[in-house]
Amino acid sequence: MPSRKPSIGGNWKMNLDTAGVKELTADLVNAVDAATTEAVDVTVFPPFPYLAPVAGALCDAGSQIRVGAQDAWAGPNGAFTGEVSLAMLKDVGVNTLLVGHSERRHVVGEGDTLVNAKLLAALDAGFEVVLAIGETLEQREAGQTDAINWGQMGYGLAGVSAQQMAKVTIAYEPVWAIGTGKTATPEDAQKAHAAIRAFLRTGLFNDAVADAVRIQYGGSMKPGNAKDLVGQPDIDGGLIGGAALKADDFAAIIAAARATA
Ligand code: PEP
Repeated sequence: MPSRKPSIGGNWKMNLDTAGVKELTADLVNAVDAATTEAVDVTVFPPFPYLAPVAGALCDAGSQIRVGAQDAWAGPNGAFTGEVSLAMLKDVGVNTLLVGHSERRHVVGEGDTLVNAKLLAALDAGFEVVLAIGETLEQREAGQTDAINWGQMGYGLAGVSAQQMAKVTIAYEPVWAIGTGKTATPEDAQKAHAAIRAFLRTGLFNDAVADAVRIQYGGSMKPGNAKDLVGQPDIDGGLIGGAALKADDFAAIIAAARATA
């Protein structure tokens, strides 16, 4: 089986304040050492106001934890009130962009075309990208899980070359499992991940891309269930929400991923 470096993301969403961010970042520096980031790619996604201080603190501490943004404008700097450009994000030390998160798709109303535009712009700007995909409960119950994932991948990855896929991670996040405490069983998650990888292999790209792309699972991953999830052959890590807000829990999930490496 091809070996892929595990990849763990911590999506802080719209949580914490200055003091909380400072404390969590310091705790992460202590809990996630260089040997760990050598074995597992670790990225945190703080809210916009805290990106610069988090990137600065991690850099000052010599940490290899990466910093990602939860969103960005798809175009260059300009008269777009309220938006934040990739150039600005890069300027403050951000090197990863999360696109297609279900809260942006289903709450904010972002469609596949915009997700694709952001992904392409981020790749052009030299960012790593995490493309989140996943079905709603209704779609799952209608047996549409794979069709939804394949559709979101087909649209989201339109125009991306096989070479550029080296900078793309897929995050499979069943919408019904995000922030709900309901987790897909490892078997169900593995089934969805295998279908995602099969589509990379025969639908969109080739064997080399399919074997190399990391596919994270997201949806109420916690220290107690991480080992069984990341132990599945096609689950290469996780995108973590709630459990990423506690350094100990996040570190335990990273340790579970490291144990599979
Ligand atoms: C997420 O925000 O992407 C997520 C998976 O959240 P949680 O871990 O809280 O379900």
